[in-house]
Amino acid sequence: MKTVLVTGASSGIGRATARRLDAAGWKVFAGVRREEDAAALRAGSSSRLEPLILDVLDADAIAAAAERLEAEPGGLDGLVPNAGSAFAGPLETLPLDLFREQLELNLTAQLATIQAVMPAIRRARGRLILISSDGGRVALPYTGAYHASKYGIEAIGDSLRQELAPWGIKVVLILPGAIDTEIWTRGEVVADKMFEESPRTRELYGSQTDKYREFIHKVAKDAIPPEKVAARIEVALTKPRPRARYMVGLDAQVVARLGPVIPPAIFDWVIAKTMRLPKPDADS
Ligand code: NDP
Repeated sequence: MKTVLVTGASSGIGRATARRLDAAGWKVFAGVRREEDAAALRAGSSSRLEPLILDVLDADAIAAAAERLEAEPGGLDGLVPNAGSAFAGPLETLPLDLFREQLELNLTAQLATIQAVMPAIRRARGRLILISSDGGRVALPYTGAYHASKYGIEAIGDSLRQELAPWGIKVVLILPGAIDTEIWTRGEVVADKMFEESPRTRELYGSQTDKYREFIHKVAKDAIPPEKVAARIEVALTKPRPRARYMVGLDAQVVARLGPVIPPAIFDWVIAKTMRLPKPDADS
C-alpha cells in the first residue's frame, strides 16, 4: 500500500488531497493542528487515514511525525508539504514579524518537514510534491511577502529536483491559480488587523489597497475547487515520468507561462489597469 503525508489537511487543498488519495487506496497521514480537525477527517475517510497532530512551525511536532513515519516498513511514497497562508500588505510598511511569519510558514517549515521525513522518503524512493503558485512566477503589488515565499518554493523545488535525481527521487512543483479555499478569508483577517494597527499604511496605501481588495474579491469569486488541485497532485505522485511543474487552472496556465516573459513595463501596465491602480510613472 502506498503511503503519503499531507500537511495542512484540515481544509482546502490539503483536505481535498488527503480525501482523494484516501479514496484511491493510499495510506494517508494527514497533518492537522487540532483534534477536532482530526476527527472531522476521520469521519469522512477510510480507516486507513491517520491524522497526525502536526504544527509545521513546531520542531518537536515535526520530529514526532517523522518518528511515526519511520515505523512504516515500506517508508513514505509521497510528501505533500501543503500547509501555508497568504495575506496582503504593502512591503513599505509590512511589519517584519509578519514578513518573517510568512516565510517561516510557507518556506522554511516546508524544508523542515522535507528534511525530517527524507529518511522515510529515501526508503520508499518516494516523491516530493511542493505546493507553489502562479504567484511563484510573477509578483503582484501588496502581496510581496507571499510572492517571496512562493518564489522561494520554486527555487527549493528546482534545486531539490536536481539534488535528489541521482537517487531516483522525483520532485514536482504544483502551481495552482485561484482556488476556492479559506486562504482568502483568513488572509483578509490578517490584512485588516495590519491596516487597523498602522495609520501610516492606511494613509499611504488605503485607496490603492481598497482597489486591490475589489480585484481579489473578483478573483476569489472565479476560483476553482481544491479538488482540481488534488487531482493534479495525484497525477504528480503516480505518473511514471511526472513533469517538473503542473499549473492548475486556466489563470495559472496563462499567468505562470506568459508573466515571466512579458517586458516589465507592459506587465506593470496590465496589472495596474486590471487592478485599477494609478498608472506606473512613465519615466520608470
Ligand atoms: P487553507 O487556508 O484552506 O489551508 C491552509 C492549511 O494550512 C490549513 O490546513 C491550515 O491549518 C494549515 N496551516 C496553517 N498554518 C499551519 C501550521 N503552522 N502548521 C500546520 N498547518 C498549518 O488554504 P489553501 O488550501 O488554499 O492553501 C494550501 C496551500 O496552497 C498553501 O501553501 C497555499 O499557498 C497554496 N496555494 C493556494 C492557492 C489558492 O488560491 N487557494 C493558490 C496557490 C497556492 P489550520 O486549519 O490549523 O489553520
